[in-house]
Amino acid sequence: MKSLKKKLADDMLVLRGVNQPTTVIDVKGCPIGGESVMVVAGPCAIENEDLLKETAFKVRGSGAVALRGGAFKPRTSPYSFQGLGEDGLRILARIGEEMNMPVVTEIMDSEDIDLVSRYADILQVGARNMQNFSLLKKLGKIDKPVILKRGLAATIEEWLSAAEYILAGGNGKVILCERGVRTSETWTRNTLDLSAVALVKELSHLPVMVDPSHATGVRSLVTPMARAAVAAGADGIMVEVHPHPERALSDGDQSLTPKGFSQLMKDIDPIARALGRRIY
Ligand code: PEP
Ligand code: MN
Repeated sequence: MKSLKKKLADDMLVLRGVNQPTTVIDVKGCPIGGESVMVVAGPCAIENEDLLKETAFKVRGSGAVALRGGAFKPRTSPYSFQGLGEDGLRILARIGEEMNMPVVTEIMDSEDIDLVSRYADILQVGARNMQNFSLLKKLGKIDKPVILKRGLAATIEEWLSAAEYILAGGNGKVILCERGVRTSETWTRNTLDLSAVALVKELSHLPVMVDPSHATGVRSLVTPMARAAVAAGADGIMVEVHPHPERALSDGDQSLTPKGFSQLMKDIDPIARALGRRIY
């Protein structure tokens, strides 16, 4: 990997040193980066308390560790549902507490860091903000784990350099998330770059997760790609689940039903075990 590493300065904090183990990040007592593969599940957006509660109850029952849900949604159209904002964060925190699940939500604007940090256990930087350097610098100053999604068409160098911004600021709790990149293919929303998972794990000591939902945009492809992600060595999986995907306010086409999610969990379990890992 020397030739690839040469593209990045040797002293970058994001790079894996010789024999350096993967950094294990603790999220409210749940580790990511160690033996267990962390599964994060939940709806694209928090729509209301009852739906989130039902989703959380079901995904938790199937073995998801953490609950996701967006309150600030980066929608392509300004006329699409933008999320419930602080009301959504309140719902997310309440249900996470009730279900004993750490909660993950997107931070879109550096002005909202204090607000989102009050409710979330992990802050997610979305693909569209991967190179929002002022946001990354501010996230370097907080003491909470950050999931840094790969940009829409970001190279691995750009992605790792974005992570470096957070590490350089003093926050070492960064989890990288491959969520597909834009290619010429139109059958899928994005193209899942699985070689990036193996490569980034080689280059960096940070845990790497995969989001097969945004990577494919197609419900039937989510579970096969989740299986492949675990086989490729992902430290975590993030999946969109909705009790009624046909009525979802965003990303229904790629959302699994709770039943579909339960099957995904059954499918990835033996793959994790074959690699000496476990899912819980
Ligand atoms: C999301 O996870 O809700 C999301 C918007 O994903 P991405 O930033 O990868 O598009
Ligand atoms: Mn989504």
